[in-house]
Amino acid sequence: MYNKTMSDQMKVNILFPINANAFTYLVPEELQSKIKIGARVLAPFKRGKKIGIVQRTEDRGQRTEVRRQSTEDRRQKTEVRTGHKAAGTGFKKEIILKPIEAVLDDEPLVPESLLKLIEWTGQYYMSTAGLALKNAIPSGIFEGKKGGKGRITYDDEIRPAAIFNLTSEQEKALSEINKAQSGAFLLHGVTGSGKTEIYLRAIEALGDKETIMLVPEIALTAQIIDRFRSRFKDKVAFFHSGLSPGERISQWRKIRNGEVKIALGVRSAVFAPFNNLGLIIIDEEHEASYKQFEGLRYSARDVALARAKIEGIKIVLGSATPSLETFYYAKKGKLTYLELTHRIEQKPMPRVEIVDMTKEEKESLSYSKKLLGVLKEALANGHQSLIMLNRRGYSPFLMCVDCGYTYKCPACSITLTYHKDTKTLNCHYCNSFLEPQDVCPQCKGVKIKYIGLGTQRIEEELQALIPELVLKRMDRDTTRKKLSHYRIVKDMEEKKIDVLLGTQMIAKGHDFPDVTVAAVVFADVALNLPDFRSSERTFQLFTQLAGRAGRGDAPGEVFIQTYEPHHYVFNYVCGHNYTGFYQNEIELRKELAYPPFSKLIRIVFNFKSKDTAKKIMKDVSARVKKITPPFPPLARGGDGGVAILGPAPAPVEKIRNYWRWHLILKGKNSKSLRQAASSVLEAMRDIKEIKIDVDVDPINLL
Ligand code: ADP
Ligand code: ZN
Repeated sequence: MYNKTMSDQMKVNILFPINANAFTYLVPEELQSKIKIGARVLAPFKRGKKIGIVQRTEDRGQRTEVRRQSTEDRRQKTEVRTGHKAAGTGFKKEIILKPIEAVLDDEPLVPESLLKLIEWTGQYYMSTAGLALKNAIPSGIFEGKKGGKGRITYDDEIRPAAIFNLTSEQEKALSEINKAQSGAFLLHGVTGSGKTEIYLRAIEALGDKETIMLVPEIALTAQIIDRFRSRFKDKVAFFHSGLSPGERISQWRKIRNGEVKIALGVRSAVFAPFNNLGLIIIDEEHEASYKQFEGLRYSARDVALARAKIEGIKIVLGSATPSLETFYYAKKGKLTYLELTHRIEQKPMPRVEIVDMTKEEKESLSYSKKLLGVLKEALANGHQSLIMLNRRGYSPFLMCVDCGYTYKCPACSITLTYHKDTKTLNCHYCNSFLEPQDVCPQCKGVKIKYIGLGTQRIEEELQALIPELVLKRMDRDTTRKKLSHYRIVKDMEEKKIDVLLGTQMIAKGHDFPDVTVAAVVFADVALNLPDFRSSERTFQLFTQLAGRAGRGDAPGEVFIQTYEPHHYVFNYVCGHNYTGFYQNEIELRKELAYPPFSKLIRIVFNFKSKDTAKKIMKDVSARVKKITPPFPPLARGGDGGVAILGPAPAPVEKIRNYWRWHLILKGKNSKSLRQAASSVLEAMRDIKEIKIDVDVDPINLL
């Protein structure tokens, strides 16, 4: 035996599912042979013990892997200091490391490539690897929980998969995908062109390899679940927000134990713990819901692209209306472009008509005579209809006719939406609610008016106008219960419903062959939002809705009611003209140097009081001005330039009692942009009163 010095001993970096990077520990001699990257260990933490994952090992001062970024390294060290007592000695500060207590797995629980992805995610989103780990793995897994029953009660009867020959366009796209071992594809196919069929066959062609298929909120995809179940039986694990913690654990374990070949799910399924992944598919890649809006603000699509790169596998992004960024990158050759230009069986695209509500005769507040006539006709022919209004509740505000008072959320700078079913005024930001009074709280007036439209109101109106109609509403309020969405879709399929009415939920992905009419009640809700992506979103949403009509034997018709019929987006929607829209929009983006011509990082500053916010932001502003010089302005600085916009009050000034300011960094080069953001954060490190959120690649600037 010889005396070991500190540097002689084996050290490990342990990642815990908390918002921090890895911590360093010593490994006692008897545990050294058991240490494996990705295995769980039990380690002392603060005053207790915690379960973490071995991120990497350092043996006798020799690192098995070099850390990528020095800033991460620095941060890690400070965290080690705070997490563990650092002993200050006269000349040299030595960090006293503690030993881990046990290794809990014989085999790694988290595959090494997944660990790499988790690290990448923490770093890219200027967050921590620990928070990424927490997002990636169900919490019960760390404690070794076995999971619940894991039986998800969908209908047990599944219709057998239809058998047909692929169209020549499908054939061509599929063979390109099958041929490749790696690389990214954009599958751009008009609505109803058979994209899903290509996904299914590409998965079948993989043989032993595994697939992750992401969809934009599984609640929206009852039909996809059925198609996957009928094709792949019990070889599929499902991930969606309706799972209980126990179900989540058992789905995760099924994947980890190799019992399933496919993970189908929303965002977090991108972290499915497969060992032999061959393919990732992102359906409706343009969907905003791939981005997480709180905590770790990651885009599952972009993390998927990173995962495909790390694992050297192929990835398919599918959409009828690709995001501008994705289409741009496809044009530049970063993704292989695959196109489906026609609907299956050469079915025609639906006719789209803009209904000018300033001129049209109206039967009620929300319905033109024209639209009502069309709905009656569809009903008489045994066809179904979809009606969309992208705003839930009954009316977006109550107003006192005498003094103009409207109810605002006490915690957010947002007017409250009246919900008639619960007779409450709800905040759609923080979910709190109030009960309205009979008299105006301000002037005691008694004339209170409902202003504006919500899904509950257009439902009520339509039922009154056509009483014999069987109507169902689908929005977040009617789909809170587990599987309620699935049931509505089933009822629609089985033709128990004449008209399905709701928010954007009704526009996505469904394949109802008997729907001939799709309508937007009040398109103006979506136009002119103060966001550079608002036209893009409007175009995508209306095109997706139009895509639901006329998928069966009878042709489809689309009616868009609006008070702004000359808005430029409508031209492209009517013409089913994606490329025309793209060309117009990409020019605007270029002019303003918005993505894809730049990248954005948004920093949101949250304060407990309005006055503190103002005072401190003045200071912050001065500090930010000082740190700009190393980063040349965007216009003159070439690719390394960074523009710092703000700080300024955020458009939504208060949410959940926090007063918000924000700052947007814009740059072409991801690295210098990130450096600039780091400098901004560094410059205000000592200000205690701020709660800071960093959003890399933000898609919501409100
Ligand atoms: P998309 O995802 O592009 O909107 P789907 O994959 O849902 O389109 O296909 C639309 C419909 O056409 C589905 O009912 C599907 O089963 C059917 N379908 C797909 N490919 C074919 C084909 N080659 N021949 C006949 N029907 C097809
Ligand atoms: Zn609120």
